[in-house]
Amino acid sequence: MTEVSVVGGGIGGLTAAQELAERGFDVTVYEANDRFGGKARSMPIDDPDGLHGEHGFRFFPAFYRHVVDTMERIPDGTGSVADNLVETEATLIASTHRPDQVAETGNPESLREWLEALRPAFAEDLPSEDVRFLLERLAYLLTACEKRREEELDDVSWWEFIDAENRSQEFQDRLAFATQSLVALRPEVGSARTIGTIYMQLLFGQLDPSRPTERILNGPTNEAWIDPWVAYLEDLGVEFHPATPVRGFEVDGGQVAGLELVDGSRVRSDEYVLAVPVEVAPEFVTPELARVAPELDRIDRLETAWMNGIQFYLREDVELTRGHQVYADAPWALTSISQRQFWTGYDLDERGPDEVEGVLSVIASDWDTPGIVYGKPARRCSREEIATEIWEQLKRHLDGPETRLTDDLLVDWFLDPALVETGGVSGTRGEAVEGVENRSPLLINTVGALRNRPPADVGVPNLTIASDYVRTNSDLASMESANEAGRRAANAICRRHGARETARIWELEEPAVLEPFKRQDRIRYRLGLPHPGEVTQSLRRVTGRLSGRA
Ligand SMILES: Cc1cc2nc3c(=O)[nH]c(=O)nc-3n(C[C@H](O)[C@H](O)[C@H](O)COP(=O)(O)OP(=O)(O)OC[C@H]3O[C@@H](n4cnc5c(N)ncnc54)[C@H](O)[C@@H]3O)c2cc1C
Repeated sequence: MTEVSVVGGGIGGLTAAQELAERGFDVTVYEANDRFGGKARSMPIDDPDGLHGEHGFRFFPAFYRHVVDTMERIPDGTGSVADNLVETEATLIASTHRPDQVAETGNPESLREWLEALRPAFAEDLPSEDVRFLLERLAYLLTACEKRREEELDDVSWWEFIDAENRSQEFQDRLAFATQSLVALRPEVGSARTIGTIYMQLLFGQLDPSRPTERILNGPTNEAWIDPWVAYLEDLGVEFHPATPVRGFEVDGGQVAGLELVDGSRVRSDEYVLAVPVEVAPEFVTPELARVAPELDRIDRLETAWMNGIQFYLREDVELTRGHQVYADAPWALTSISQRQFWTGYDLDERGPDEVEGVLSVIASDWDTPGIVYGKPARRCSREEIATEIWEQLKRHLDGPETRLTDDLLVDWFLDPALVETGGVSGTRGEAVEGVENRSPLLINTVGALRNRPPADVGVPNLTIASDYVRTNSDLASMESANEAGRRAANAICRRHGARETARIWELEEPAVLEPFKRQDRIRYRLGLPHPGEVTQSLRRVTGRLSGRA
């Protein structure tokens, strides 16, 4: 049997392990943490059978195919862990100066419901000129051929592409919500290709009655998904080594000769899958590997940002909407989910302290803007200050005609343990800097980053990569991308060893009606001609300027 060592037991590593084990490979997973699941894992707060905390809540939009297919193949009770996905119904957009807006996320059943569903994206308070402009830009994106998207649209930010600087404040805010509440997709730094594509996928998901628009888990991630997954893989013969960090590769003759574990021991196998996060991967790239596969050397050009979560344990269950809450004016870009209403697979009464009746899970995506209590950005606060500041920002948003969050509701909180207090380290100019460091940052899609994303099969004869920074169809730091990368890594190994079946890879679906336009643009692009939408835009800009002068 071909022996495969997988380094890293997050979604990418576990996916590769599953695809390979199901095809008869002999797989061993080495994981630095004592639990599997990587960024997606949940962690017991103290007692393993008690309350769990997470890096942040997980959501599964309609366009996710790979990760859901994997879940459907993991047995759980009489069904599969995919049965633990539950549909959301509405997103609340809470503001400090406007009435709340609620956007339905259930599948629309009539034309009127479709239009209602789209309203938060093109809300009525946006100037009609802005809405028309955005629709034109989306049409441009959807009818651009693949090469134009990869080569032209990956080199311009979404912010620039939608000319946000010259649009209304509402337009800027609305587009920031639409993307930042997802996975750290910042409109100013993310490419028009990635953000635009994902934005469109989310809209298509809202309009497709055959699939749930958005789902979340019915319990903490490890209980609802990761633990049954590890158990299933063990049944398939996969060997797991938790709390076993790998120090690096031994390289010989242009390929990997073995693993060196942190305890000094050595491991040899036929194939190696690197499934560690983007900020750790460069430590594994030796000069010899970089010579054989230059794409490995470009991984350290990929950028990360901070996106971390906190759970507030509450004396009463505060349901809010049955879905996400987006806090429109929160300086730390907050989103949340009130979890108990979804946790049908988890008995909070049995698991938590008696006084805990509700869990509000919150993610902060902006760690650089000063907050409202201490006037400091999140990264310059202590853990305690971060918790207080986030609580206050939530309260300010949820204080409306009826007060929904009050201090007496708060029993306890759990902040992502990856945030570690620096205790006053030296800044770049030697000054003392208080705050936290983040030991688990998240890859972000920046302009031009596509060319620095390696393929899973990177060109080293016995090495593949399976993590969320690999070049995939969704091209987004997410569980879906990590899963697709794991499949691609497994497929490369299957091909090398003559295994017949390969794991399925899905393309992102776009309406077939657009195909003729893309074909036409393929020809224009080959001839060096601009997209037809670009011509309209330049004409509009010129006429706009002329009429402005008049
Ligand atoms: C707050 C937050 C919320 C998110 N929400 C969503 C969401 O709703 N939907 C979504 O799709 N995505 C979400 N994501 C993104 C998603 O969690 C990640 O993109 C995905 O889990 C990455 O999986 P991975 O396997 O590539 O990497 P990781 O999860 O980083 O796993 C890598 C593993 O490698 C291990 N490792 C590191 N170094 C070593 C070493 N030397 N030896 C052995 N093992 C090592 C790590 O411990 C880790 O377990 C979110 C991320 C964050 C931070």
